[in-house]
Amino acid sequence: MSETESKNFIEQMIDKDLAEGVYDTVHTRFPPEPNGYLHIGHAKSILLNYGLAQKYGGKFNMRFDDTNPTKEKEEFVESIKADIAWLGADWEDRLFFASDYFEQMYEGAVKLIKKGKAYVSDLSADEIREYRGTLTEPGREDPGAGRSVEENLKLFGEMRDGKYADGEKVLRARIDMASPNINMRDPVIYRVAHMTHHNTGDKWCIYPMYDFAHPIEDAIEGITHSICTLEFEDHRPLYDWVVRELEYERPPRQIEFAKLYLTNVVTGKRYIKKLVEEGIVDGWDDPRLVSIAALRRRGFTPESIKLFVDLCGVSKANSSVDYAMLEYCIREDLKLKRPRMMAVLDPVKLVIDNYPEGKTELLTAPNNLENESLGSRQIPFGRELYIEREDFMEEPPRKYFRMFPGNEVRLMNAYFVTCTGCVKDADGVVTEVHCTYDPASKGGNSPDGRKVKGTIHWVPAGESVKAEVRLYENIIDEEKGVYNPDGSLNLNPNSLKVLKDCRLEPALADAKAFESFQFVRNGFFCVDYKDSKEGAPVFNRIVSLKSSFVLPKKED
Ligand code: ATP
Ligand code: MG
Repeated sequence: MSETESKNFIEQMIDKDLAEGVYDTVHTRFPPEPNGYLHIGHAKSILLNYGLAQKYGGKFNMRFDDTNPTKEKEEFVESIKADIAWLGADWEDRLFFASDYFEQMYEGAVKLIKKGKAYVSDLSADEIREYRGTLTEPGREDPGAGRSVEENLKLFGEMRDGKYADGEKVLRARIDMASPNINMRDPVIYRVAHMTHHNTGDKWCIYPMYDFAHPIEDAIEGITHSICTLEFEDHRPLYDWVVRELEYERPPRQIEFAKLYLTNVVTGKRYIKKLVEEGIVDGWDDPRLVSIAALRRRGFTPESIKLFVDLCGVSKANSSVDYAMLEYCIREDLKLKRPRMMAVLDPVKLVIDNYPEGKTELLTAPNNLENESLGSRQIPFGRELYIEREDFMEEPPRKYFRMFPGNEVRLMNAYFVTCTGCVKDADGVVTEVHCTYDPASKGGNSPDGRKVKGTIHWVPAGESVKAEVRLYENIIDEEKGVYNPDGSLNLNPNSLKVLKDCRLEPALADAKAFESFQFVRNGFFCVDYKDSKEGAPVFNRIVSLKSSFVLPKKED
């Protein structure tokens, strides 16, 4: 693949801008509204913006778009900062708040008035909508459009000074009421809102509209490429109009790309808010959600998310990506990095009748068969162990190669054992499985070339650690419908399965919050930071080991 072919369309535009001298550097930003937690879609935008700055030796700014005082919350500001830092996007010392630019925005509006490019309107929101026209009909002139510059300056000053109630007056840009693009039909750029702002308090009772504020924020910070999602494509002429009329030198360029949609999950802020507020999930970072905080808690790594975003690519066409691809990425990232431990999720006792009572020996197990550099560890082995309940059957079906009376299997990294039977309680539930071992098969190696078809994992009964393990499925599938016909949420009843009595290798007793491991056969697991206690870890399953996902072939 040649240099140019491997570049996405944004990189190609940047290359052209640099070649033609439109800009001599690349400066991007991520501008979230602090009104919720970030999700996997935002991660795409963050890594795209940060990645471009890095690739071109430029800069990346972090900016809170806090121009709308109704919805913003300090809690969200902090969570967003933590998420972006965790993803590895470094804004260095460039953390900004759009509300810091309110004075400049006000001056910008005054400048437009003086140029005859903005006027104060007395129309109500409904009237403005009515006057705006439709896709087939041009809009009608606002009666305020004829006001003189002096009158507009006076009225706008009075708006700022609090003389008018919410909705009584607005400032509109004077562009073109007949434009085929409805965004250009004299858009509202300032409104009266008597509200307290989290940053500026009660200093302002007029607030700029997004389409006016955003280009100014970009221009003030010297942003070159203002990357946003497709729904803003129709707003670009207005973006360009604002930076042109305000006469910024080297105005920023807006570029749109398609949002990332993920199948089988819920990303909409309002749905997540509902799940959180109704206590259906354990906060914004419940491991069943795909907020960045939830993915981190579940055990996803920044590297896996970066891999995912890279595989998704950047495009102009909306499409959905399968959740299985995200799972593929975390498996890929962890498989060589994490030790493979033995953990029994549904334990039943295994007694080795010919193993000396009271004896314990230490057996060596490699930490990762595909990555020798992770070394090995020792596991105590004795007469009583735990194995998975499903690894024993009294009457096995065909092709069942695990424990059943008369069958010989390998205990992983330990010995060959031959099952001799089981003990059951009054209800017929198996309480103990019995076997004998072959001392000559130490390490799980055949002493004489005889073969066994099954290898099963185990933990020592006495020394094992009891732990809670949580298995997840997605909680709501947006595609299948968020609501049931009766208006209730269409929740997956199997989204959380809690296993209270799992038994782990003793080495896992000291696992720290956010540490992750492979558990033989059962998947990758991560220590829950919220609910784990000293010596009593709670493990979240990040992902199982099996996958139906096949990496699509790259066209070249
Ligand atoms: P939501 O629609 O989930 O409420 P939003 O777009 O309103 O999200 P913002 O805080 O305004 O949230 O978004 C910050 C940035 O993240 C914007 O530049 C936006 O385009 C981008 N972004 C939001 N959702 C996605 C997505 N699904 N894929 C890629 N980028 C996204
Ligand atoms: Mg938004």
